[in-house]
This record gives sequence, C-alpha cells and structure tokens, in this order.
Amino acid sequence: MAETAVKPVKKKRPVLKVIIVVLIVLAVLIAAAVLYDGRHAELTVKGPAEIDLAYGEKYADAGAEARSVGRLFGNLDTQIDVYAYVPKDIAELGGHEVKYICSYLGRSYEAVRIVTVVDRVNPVLELVYSGDFNATVDKGFIEPGYTAWDDHDGDITSKVIVNISDDMVYYSVSDSSGNTVFAQREILVAPTEPMIELIGGPEITVTAAISFEDPGFKAYDAGGSRVNEYVTVEGEITPYITGDYELTYTLDTGFGPPVVAVRKVTVVAKDVPASVAPSEKTIYLTFDDGPGPYTEQLLDILKKYNVKATFFVTAQNPDYLYLITREYSEGHTVAVHTYSHDIYSKDENNVYSSVEAYYNDFMKMRDVIYEKTGHYTDMFRFPGGSSNTLSRFNPGIMTTLTQAMPNMGFKAFDWNVSSGDAEGGRKPEQIKKNVIDGVQSVSYGYAVVLQHDIQDFSVEAVEDILKWGLENGYKFAALDMTAPRTPHAVFN
Ligand code: ZN
Repeated sequence: MAETAVKPVKKKRPVLKVIIVVLIVLAVLIAAAVLYDGRHAELTVKGPAEIDLAYGEKYADAGAEARSVGRLFGNLDTQIDVYAYVPKDIAELGGHEVKYICSYLGRSYEAVRIVTVVDRVNPVLELVYSGDFNATVDKGFIEPGYTAWDDHDGDITSKVIVNISDDMVYYSVSDSSGNTVFAQREILVAPTEPMIELIGGPEITVTAAISFEDPGFKAYDAGGSRVNEYVTVEGEITPYITGDYELTYTLDTGFGPPVVAVRKVTVVAKDVPASVAPSEKTIYLTFDDGPGPYTEQLLDILKKYNVKATFFVTAQNPDYLYLITREYSEGHTVAVHTYSHDIYSKDENNVYSSVEAYYNDFMKMRDVIYEKTGHYTDMFRFPGGSSNTLSRFNPGIMTTLTQAMPNMGFKAFDWNVSSGDAEGGRKPEQIKKNVIDGVQSVSYGYAVVLQHDIQDFSVEAVEDILKWGLENGYKFAALDMTAPRTPHAVFN
C-alpha cells in the first residue's frame, strides 16, 4: 500500500472573508454617501434682510436660524446655535450691519441684516407770540423771537432762515436729515391813532340760536396799547329771530373824540327739510303726554296691525321713560312734547314764561330722547299746540316761539283732527267716533290725529280706529321731517 502523504489541509473560512468584504464595501459606500450628502449648515436671517428704522424707534432683532442640510439625507433636526452681533450704535442715524454667526461640523457661517436708521420726523418751529403788533411805523418789524428743535439734532434755532417781505415774515428750518418745516407771521404795524378792531370783521352772519356771542373786539390807544375797558357796546340782537342787527362799539378814553365802529350781524335760519303732502290718503296717529301706564298696551296694538305712529313724549311719568326705547325700536317716531308739561303755573316754571324757559325744557326732553334712542330729534309739538291761549299770561310768546324754533332748525307739528280725549268724551266709542268723523271731514287727503296715550279710554279706541282706517283704504304712517305740519293759527 503506497503511502499516501496527507497534506495538512488549510482550513478555509469563507464566511469571515465575505463579512470582511461586505464591511469594506459598506465603509466605501458610507464614505461615498457622506461625501455625496455634503452635510452643511444653512444660515438664514428671520424677517427682512434689510430694514428701514425710524429714528427713535427701538430695534427689535428678529434673529436668524441655522439648519443642517444635505443632498442625500435631507434636513436634519439638529440644534445649531446662532450668535447675533447687534452694533451698539444701532439707534444712530445711518446704515448698520447686524451679523449672525454659527459653526457646524468644523465650518463657520455668517449672515447679515442691513438696518438703516432714518429721521423722518420734522423739527418743531415755534414763533414767540408777537402780541397785537410787531412793527411800528418808525422802526418797521421787530422780531419777537422763535425757537426750533429737532428730535435728533436738538436745538437748531440757529439754523432758522428768516425772510421778511412787505407784510409777512417767513421762517424755515431743516434738520440734518433734510426734514424741513415752515412758519410765517403777519407784520402788524401798531396804530398811531386810537382804533377799534372788530374780531370777525364788520359784517358777520350767524345761524339762529338761543344765544349770541359777540366775537369781540380789540381797542387801542394812539400808542398801540389795549384799552378795551374804555369801549361800550350798544345794540340788541334777538339771536333766534332772523334779520339784520347792528352793534355799535364806542371807544372813549377821554382824550380826543370817541372812535366808533359798527358791526352788522345777520341772523339766518337753519335749513329744515320742506314738508311734502303724502300721495296716498294717510292717517298720522299722534300720541301726546306719554309714555305712561297705557303706552305698552298701545304699542302692542300698533304692533299687531304693523302700524307706525308718532309719540310726542314728556317726562311726566319717569317710571315709564324706558318705553321710549321700545317706541323708537319698533319704528315709531319719537319727538319732543315737553319735559315738565307745565303750562299752568304763572311763574318761571311755566314753559311759556320765556323763550329761554321754553328752550331749556325742550332741550331737556330732547336729551332724554337721545339717552333712550341714541338719536336727536328735531321734531316737536308745542304743549297745547301752536294755537294755545294758556300762554297769554306772557303776551306774544307763541308768536315768537313759532318763529324761533323753526329758525333754530326744529320742526313743529300740530294736528287737524282731535280725538277729544283731553276734553269731554271719556269713552272709547266717543273717541273712535270723534277720530273717524274728524278724518272724514279732512278734505285734503291726510289727517294728523291728536290722542293722548296717558288716557286709557283713548288707547282702548285705537284698535277700532285702525280697523276702520285699514278697511277704508287709509295708509297709517309716522310723521317725519318731511311730513305735513298741519299748523294751527297762533292766538298769542
Ligand atoms: Zn300735552
């Protein structure tokens, strides 16, 4: 038997070899991937990269942010700290750079924001008050002084440029950023003779009002000193009655002849919309003297028939004033009757004791209506109507008031049908009959009916009146500023 040499067989380890190869390949791949990924930081300024800031406005840095980005693995949620460097003089005028710096994977990055501080605020130029005059015939203009100040430059009075013409002085000043302001003043030459200057001029026009305020005057002696105390004013103006009036101002200092100036004052009426007759036959139900205990019931009836009416209100029953709000919000017209309804006293409490007493009472009620509705009304009805004779203790008051109130922009409404509820008939049937008869007797197409919602029997008649009116082709409407006034004759 031949001897067979048995060679030691080298033990092969193919698995390990494979692993090594794989690892090498992997390492190469990872290295390639990392290289290809090109990981770096991306630093971006938050908000605009260029900012214009007004001088004095505080700079608030919006900051910057850095992200980790790469081609292969995209954006990673890695925290990268960013440091901001805001220049110390960032509040000063001019351009500034705010720098943002970060470092990542051994490299550093920088971003910049440009901040430009500009002065847009004008300087303030103030002229010293010159008194009444700043020039004399002999010496000409005497500068009373001025100051100029700028929020950035401070006191710039020395930079003011002054130009003097025949009758005006012009001033201008610019700050270091070129913001310029102007001012001017009239050259006022002091008189050499005593004189009166009427403020507002020798002719003025005013709108009728309860009072007139003289715009005033300036009186001077020959040296240009004020001597208003030596002036007397004569002439009367009735400010609520239109027309031409004259005021005479006399300056008498005791030296030389008096100086006289005359002012013409024209009082004109306020514009009021014209009244227009309705095109359809119309009933305007009006209720005076409320609100009161029956007003709510009345509002319910009007609501049921969707009819709008007019309330000439008073403050006689304060507990019911809240109903004015409901009246208004349900589309009715709320207008002034009177606050106190005192037409019986024989003293200054009576609303007809004077124009002022009437006006004050009227305005008080008008204010209550405003409080309850948010609206001022210019519509009203005189207590007792324009034709009342109770006011005769003050002769002529109705003649004056019926002119004065419209002149001041208010519109008075009377009535052409009375329900008689303030007089005899105390039953609903009687009120209904009075109203229907009255409406039918009006030949010109519209009836303004007087009732009082403080009378229960009058309120109780309303539903029947509404039914009758609607059945007979009448339209019911609330009065407004263009509605018919049905004015009464004036007997006082
Ligand atoms: Zn009344």
